[in-house]
Amino acid sequence: MQTRLFIGGRFVDAADGATIGVLNPHDGSRLADVAEAKAEDIDHAVDAAAAAFPAWRDTPAADRGRLLLKLADRIEADAERLARLESQDTGHPLRDTRGLDVPRTAATFRYFGGMADKLQGSVVPVEKGFLNYVLREPIGVVGQIVPWNFPLMFTSWKMGPALAAGNTVVLKPAELTPLSSLAIAELMAEVGFPEGVVNIVPGYGHTAGQHLAEHPKVGKIAFTGSTAIGRRIVAASAGNLKRIQLELGGKGANIVFDDADLPAAVNGSAFAIFHNQGQACIAGSRLILHERIADAFLEAFIGLARSIRLGDPLDERTEMGPLTSRQHQERVLSYCATAVDQGGKVLLGGRRPTEPALQDGYFVEPTVVQAKATDRVSQEEVFGPFVSVTTFRDEAEVMAIANGTPYGLGGGLWTRDLARAHRVARALEAGMVWINSYKRVNPGSPFGGVRASGYGREMGFEAMHDYTDAKSVWVNVEAQLPPYYRR
Ligand code: NAD
Repeated sequence: MQTRLFIGGRFVDAADGATIGVLNPHDGSRLADVAEAKAEDIDHAVDAAAAAFPAWRDTPAADRGRLLLKLADRIEADAERLARLESQDTGHPLRDTRGLDVPRTAATFRYFGGMADKLQGSVVPVEKGFLNYVLREPIGVVGQIVPWNFPLMFTSWKMGPALAAGNTVVLKPAELTPLSSLAIAELMAEVGFPEGVVNIVPGYGHTAGQHLAEHPKVGKIAFTGSTAIGRRIVAASAGNLKRIQLELGGKGANIVFDDADLPAAVNGSAFAIFHNQGQACIAGSRLILHERIADAFLEAFIGLARSIRLGDPLDERTEMGPLTSRQHQERVLSYCATAVDQGGKVLLGGRRPTEPALQDGYFVEPTVVQAKATDRVSQEEVFGPFVSVTTFRDEAEVMAIANGTPYGLGGGLWTRDLARAHRVARALEAGMVWINSYKRVNPGSPFGGVRASGYGREMGFEAMHDYTDAKSVWVNVEAQLPPYYRR
């Protein structure tokens, strides 16, 4: 297991020797002491990335792509080790890290490996006498700051497009979950990424993250995290007017109409909120049910939620692991009191499980809370296995509820009415909409939000554009142009 900073192609201790203790959320045991980057280490990493940039930018795009493709193969060859490491570090059940996190990480690096030489400029039809063409150029050193909920997958979402487009990278994983990104650094070194092209610097947000966001040599910050910290990133970036990409929080509306296929909606809605212990920005954390089917839906949904198997993330039968930290567990549980204070009702869960084997882990039972659309639990991101339930009568009312939070990341709806499905999809103020499904993602499909959920897009061509600047080049193709100043 790599536990040191990855700077300039080497694993090194922090300049002041500081470390962060990384805990296993299943039992609170210490998994590793990982080097803690502070300002001086961030400076070294940025310098290494800046030194590597010209050669990486000038490397043929197909060769940059080939390295990403090799990395994807290497990740697949090491899939089991990576899946176990991620499960131990985050608490995600092994069935998910094996079945989703690792394959998606490889698929995303592979997608952007293939994309590297597909990014093209354009020729603009301008007036006679001139040729105008547009180059897409990499930005330079890109700082990337990611949270703890999908640390392995985020290495590919962030680094894939940045590297394919010819940027060099300084990535700061979350202090709670740095292990899988250091494992990826090791694989990158192994497959031959040149020194300094990628630098991985675990550290705390207010020190390492803040310094990276302020750094004058960094051309862009790609940030995934909370809306509150997103605002700080924007302020910190003002010094050199960095480009910013923000993937922030969400409060996904999951609407079930009265003509929906109820068994499919129940199952999909449980996945929408309980997968990854609800620690997903795109979680369907607001269930909005048509009043005619609300009782039948809830009976089946609560029955399913009650049956979810909590346990050791490394046990293949486990369907829900612990939350990633003790502090977060307490925060999620505190929302039950908040709900009750505002007149809400806890229909299921809202507590730690009572099984003796789960006492040391940061578990929260699947929780279903009935609440008004304006209550705090229906407005604020809880980021746990915690869903608020509200009912509606008609389409106008449901749209007002669905669009009635500051967020705009993902949302979904369940109906058999085709026209209504498209009408509602269009009316949802969100970056992503799922019809009769929830939480689908693919490396080719743009991912991101609107309003308090941020701006900019990951994945697909959109991401490649977000990691490049357009340069417009004008060429005089006429021997003689009429003079502007006639003398
Ligand atoms: P967070 O905002 O507290 O931290 C995210 C990252 O920012 C961490 O690496 C942290 O160390 C760093 N950070 C903290 N303070 C900083 C500062 N002052 N300057 C620079 N960096 C700083 O978020 P979290 O609690 O780790 O993650 C949960 C949040 O992430 C939720 O709000 C969730 O919705 C969001 N999220 C969004 C997406 C998306 O794509 N929209 C995906 C996953 C998670």
